[in-house]
Amino acid sequence: MSASVAQQENAEFDFPERRRFARGVSALFLVLGLILATIAVQVYKVVGDFLQASQWVTHSMSVRQEITLTLASLHDAEASQRAYLISSSAERLADFSAAVPRIAEHSAKLSELVADNPVQAENARALVILLDARLSAIHEVLELFAHDGIEAARASAQMSRSRSDDFKIDSIGERMLHHEEQLQSVRERLTADQAMLTRVLTVGAILLSVFMLGIALLLVQREQGHRMASMREARSANRELLRSLGDSQRLGQSLRELAELGEMLHGCRDVNEAATGLRISLPRLLVGSSGSVHLLNASQNLIQAVAQWGEDSADTAEIFAPDDCWALRRGHAYPLSGTTPAFTCRHLQASIEAHPTQEHLCVPMIAQGEILGVISVTSEQPFHGSERSNIIAACESISMALANLKLQETLRIQSLRDPLTGLFNRRYLEASFEREIQRAERRGIPLSVLMLDIDHFKHFNDSFGHEAGDALLAHFGMVLGKVVRNEDISCRYGGEEFTILMPEADAELAKERAEQICAAVRAMDVQFHNLALGRVTVSIGVATHPEHGRTPDELLRNADNALYVAKNSGRDRVMTAETLHPATRPDASSGS
Ligand code: GH3
Ligand code: MG
Ligand code: MG
Repeated sequence: MSASVAQQENAEFDFPERRRFARGVSALFLVLGLILATIAVQVYKVVGDFLQASQWVTHSMSVRQEITLTLASLHDAEASQRAYLISSSAERLADFSAAVPRIAEHSAKLSELVADNPVQAENARALVILLDARLSAIHEVLELFAHDGIEAARASAQMSRSRSDDFKIDSIGERMLHHEEQLQSVRERLTADQAMLTRVLTVGAILLSVFMLGIALLLVQREQGHRMASMREARSANRELLRSLGDSQRLGQSLRELAELGEMLHGCRDVNEAATGLRISLPRLLVGSSGSVHLLNASQNLIQAVAQWGEDSADTAEIFAPDDCWALRRGHAYPLSGTTPAFTCRHLQASIEAHPTQEHLCVPMIAQGEILGVISVTSEQPFHGSERSNIIAACESISMALANLKLQETLRIQSLRDPLTGLFNRRYLEASFEREIQRAERRGIPLSVLMLDIDHFKHFNDSFGHEAGDALLAHFGMVLGKVVRNEDISCRYGGEEFTILMPEADAELAKERAEQICAAVRAMDVQFHNLALGRVTVSIGVATHPEHGRTPDELLRNADNALYVAKNSGRDRVMTAETLHPATRPDASSGS
């Protein structure tokens, strides 16, 4: 990941929203901590109270136990005393002696236990007094028994034993037990309440903690979700960035290629050379694509492939009508993805059927409002904006270069050819005549020159007008083009006069060909504005190298002289320099 992308991701997570979230979670945990601390303190206190209440319950139980034990010890002592008086058994006396200190012990313990409770303390004091009195009486009886016998002891026992005292002791005992029971039940209730409160607080604290932790978890999960989404966004932004970086690098490379291509095309001599350049450059410029460059032919009715590249270019038509391409019909780029079959370019039909998932783009090449052709590009991937601009830019550059080449070609043709008849002009004749003579001399082959002049041409002009005369000249040019061989050089010498250079043709052959021209001209049926211009004839003079001259001037003069003779002899005929008077012959005049 690049540094800029990492910064971008950090920036993504450094939003105020994120900081607010962190503060919110901290506050939540702070509140949770405070609540838990309060609850803990409360629980601590309640548990303390609970323990204290439990101790008081135990205390009450101990008090009750001591009351019961005190009274039980007294009853034991009394029972042992009575048994002793009846049986005089030393064993019973020992029982009595063992029970007496237990009374004191338990009553003392009882007094100590109830010392904090004024009511019970008072009761305990009264009980102790009654118990002491009772024990004193018992001791007196026992002493009488020891000194005066059983009868005196029984009598004293009868006397000392007061029912009211017994009743008082039991009553105080019961009162104390009752009071302590009440205290115990109050303390037990308090303990139960404290236990319930402790339980409620503990469970409440746990539930609150779980609830708040749940909220914290939800918040964290939501934040995590946001974070993941942000990371995904950052990653996709990163991919987009890398893609556009790649795009711009490719664009830079493409622009360099395009500049090179433009330079190369501008340096081309003709369209064929440009086509070769396009075949090499376009695959490099439009990487991973197939395609073709089609140009409008000279007759402007067909589009013909001049360059093709890529594997799938074989499926596109090599020749098609301009109307078969929607880009040419509409005059601007036409992408073929997402179009209905009705609007599919017909020249790409086979390619679309063979590879239905491919994308196609046709871009017309137009310069100065004139259609030059179309570039069709096919790709497995959809064309991105930059690719499409690349293709369109390439087409514009190619259009300009091809338009230039076409213009140059037109100028070149115009500088060599006569625009009316399409034949070479006099300048071209002069340029090539010398060369043809040299070649003939080098190879020792003949070279004939024909001078042609349309008979009574003035008459056509005068009778049908200058335009009709032009039409006749154009027609005449076509006839010459058909009759003479490709190697022959047919020129319009000027006006209605023409010259033909016939390399390798001797005088006889040249005369024969001239006769054929005369016949073809005679057979011409020129119509102009639906008017037949009538019979046309031509007179021809022939001179042959080397017998009728060795220089262009000599040969042209002799051919012209022969033509002059043909005119004077009645026109519509062929005369060779042979037929000239020896005096007019250059070799005669030069004496060779
Ligand atoms: P002849 O049989 O003796 O050759 O008679 P002619 O009428 O052909 O001869 P002339 O040289 O007197 O006339 C040639 C005419 O051709 C004169 C000129 O007006 C006409 N002419 C020359 N160049 C052109 C041209 O480019 N277009 C047209 N329409 N006429 C031309
Ligand atoms: Mg003439
Ligand atoms: Mg003429």
